[in-house]
Amino acid sequence: MIILVDMDDTIEYLLRAWVKGVNEKYGYCVSSEEVASWDVSTAFPGLTRKQVYDIPMQPGFWKTVEPIEDAAEVLGRFMASGHEIFIVTATSYEYMYEKMSEVLFRYFPFLSWDQVIVTSRKQMIRGDVLIDDGVHNLKGGSYVKILMTAPHNASYDAEANGMIRVHTWKEIEKVIGRLEREIGRSSR
Ligand SMILES: [Mg+2]
Repeated sequence: MIILVDMDDTIEYLLRAWVKGVNEKYGYCVSSEEVASWDVSTAFPGLTRKQVYDIPMQPGFWKTVEPIEDAAEVLGRFMASGHEIFIVTATSYEYMYEKMSEVLFRYFPFLSWDQVIVTSRKQMIRGDVLIDDGVHNLKGGSYVKILMTAPHNASYDAEANGMIRVHTWKEIEKVIGRLEREIGRSSR
């Protein structure tokens, strides 16, 4: 299968690092679990959108972003069993180099730049599955939609919208295993 994988808050904890960065700079004590909207600035009343969105632009920021548990191990196993993996990310050009070197290739060294697709129109990308925490990236795509749980999508009814909600990479591995068996059955 061609498995498309989002980066932020799917394989690494951008939101946690971002909220921590804003808290430290502006003296807030917001928890990432309180960020109920895709727009992170809504969790920081009193700050402008620019103040909040400047945090990931700061040099050194991406060094503070940590990988999500089991993501590297499971992606490695998918590749070893013959699946094609593509990271599909809407990363801004301003911090592209730092993000790729400090996060993607640091924690996922078995991936190469050939496996990275940068776009904010993920529906234009062809693949069997997309794993993403952004509902807007899954809606309307021609792939099987796996929604990685994040604070901003916690109340979204994934099942009613044709998506499979998961919370961990162990769960993702099970879902991919099930899809493999289904595809195997339908092609027999
Ligand atoms: Mg994301």
